[in-house]
Amino acid sequence: MDDAVTPARLRDFLEDVRVLAQAAQSAHPEQEPGVAPLLPLLTAHLGLDPRTFAVHTLELPVLRRVDTDVAVAAVVGEDPAARLVGVGGGEQRMHMSLSEILQHAGSWPGQFPVGPVDYHRAATGPSTSRQTVAFGLHLWHADGVPVVLLQRRASMRHNGAPVLEVLCPSDDVAGALLTRVRAEMDARSTLRGQVVTFSGSPFDPGEAGVVHVPRPSVPREDVVLPAGTLERIERQVLGVARHRDALRAAGQHLKRGVLLYGPPGTGKTHTVRHLVGASPGVTVTLLSGQALQLVTVAAETARALQPAMVVLEDCDLVAEDRSLTGGTPVLFEVLDALDGLAADADVTFLLTTNRADVLEPALAQRPGRVDLAVEVPLPDAPGRRRLFRLYAADLPFTPDALDAAAEATAGMTASFVKEAIRRAVLLAAEDGRHVGDDDLASAVQEMTGDSERITRSLLGVGAGADV
Ligand code: ADP
Repeated sequence: MDDAVTPARLRDFLEDVRVLAQAAQSAHPEQEPGVAPLLPLLTAHLGLDPRTFAVHTLELPVLRRVDTDVAVAAVVGEDPAARLVGVGGGEQRMHMSLSEILQHAGSWPGQFPVGPVDYHRAATGPSTSRQTVAFGLHLWHADGVPVVLLQRRASMRHNGAPVLEVLCPSDDVAGALLTRVRAEMDARSTLRGQVVTFSGSPFDPGEAGVVHVPRPSVPREDVVLPAGTLERIERQVLGVARHRDALRAAGQHLKRGVLLYGPPGTGKTHTVRHLVGASPGVTVTLLSGQALQLVTVAAETARALQPAMVVLEDCDLVAEDRSLTGGTPVLFEVLDALDGLAADADVTFLLTTNRADVLEPALAQRPGRVDLAVEVPLPDAPGRRRLFRLYAADLPFTPDALDAAAEATAGMTASFVKEAIRRAVLLAAEDGRHVGDDDLASAVQEMTGDSERITRSLLGVGAGADV
C-alpha cells in the first residue's frame, strides 16, 4: 500500500475534518463538545432557576483569605454529599459577580460551562501551606435547604478581597450561613499564634498576600538600652499579659498602646523583635508603609485572636497620607483603631517612629491611645561599650580597643557600631589577616571620617553629629 501524503490526499483529509467539526458544532450550537452548561446543574440542585434568587454577598479582609477557605470547608463539609465544581470561561468570570455570570450563562450557555476548580496554594505558617479554593462553586444542603456558594480567593471587583456569594431559597438560611462562616474563621484561624506581615501592595488585587515570618528570637541581653528602659517597655507589654488575670480581677484594662521613639538605628525595631520573640503564642501583625492602612482590619483580627500584638512601624510616614476610603489621615485611622477595641482585650499596639514631633500633635488630639511613650535614644558611652562588646562577640579585640572605639563614636547609633565591627573584619579579610585591634581602630576612623558622612546618615547618625 502506498502511504505517501500527496497534496490531494491531504486536501481530502482536511475537508473531512472540517465536515466533522461542522457536524459537531451544529449538534450543540453554543456548547463545546463534552462540557456541561452551568445553569441546568444549578437549577437541578436548587430546584428553581438560580437567576430568580437574591445573591447574598460577603466580602472579607485580604488578611483572612486562608481563614475564609478553612471556614467554608468546615461549614460545607458538614454535608457528606457536598460537591465542589469549577466554572470555565477564562478571565471574564473573574470580573463578573455571580448574578452576572448566571445571566450570561443563560444567554450563552457555552460561555460559562462547568469546568475545573481553580486552586491556590497559600501559606499557613513560615513553612506550611494549604491548598485553597481560588474560584469554585460549592453545592450542598444546609439544614435540608439547598445552597450554592461561589468562593473566590481574590475578587477583582473588591480590591483583591476574598468574596463569598450565596444562592439559597431561604434568605434566613443564607444569612445564618454567612454568620457561621465568620464565626468559624475566628474559631479556626490559621493566623492564631502566628507572626504575619504583608507582601506587595494590599491594594493590588490578587497579588497582595499575608507573609508568615518565623517568630524572631532576640534575647534581652542583646538589646542595649539605657538602664531601666527595656524593663519599662517589657512591663507594659509582657507584664500586663503575664498578670492578665490579676488585672482583670482588679477591674483594670488590658489593652495597651506603647510608642517607641528616637533616631533611626537606635533599636526600636530590635526591641520590637525582642518583644515578639518573648511572646510565644501571641498573634502578631506587623504593618508598615502602605500596609498601615490595614490597621482597622488588623485591630479587629487582633481582638478576635487575642492575645495579640499589632506592630505599626514608622507611623510618622503616614502622618500626611490620606486613606483610600474616606480621606481621613491614615495616622488618625491608626489611632482610632487603637481606640476601637474593648478595653479588656489582651491586645498590645506597638508604634515606632523616628519623628515623635510629627506624631505628638496627633496623639495629643486623640488622647488615651498610647499609655506609654518611651524614648530609644542614641547610646551613651556605657551603652556604646556594651554594644561594641555585644557585636564583637568572640572576635579577638582587647577591652582597651573596644573602649577606645566606644570613646571615638560619641553621637553614633547602635547600627553604626554593628557596622564598624563588620568593617574591621572586612579590612582584615582583604589583607588576608586575622582581625585585630588595629582593624577596629581603622574601621572606626574610616567611618567617622569626612568621606563617610552619607554612610553615617544611612546608619541613622544625624547629619549634625560629629565625633
Ligand atoms: P530602628 O528601628 O531604631 O531604626 P533597628 O532596630 O532597625 O533601628 O536597628 C538596626 C540594627 O542595629 C538592629 O537590627 C540591631 O542589630 C542593631 N541595633 C540597633 N539598636 C540596637 C540596640 N539598642 N541594641 C542592640 N543592637 C541594636
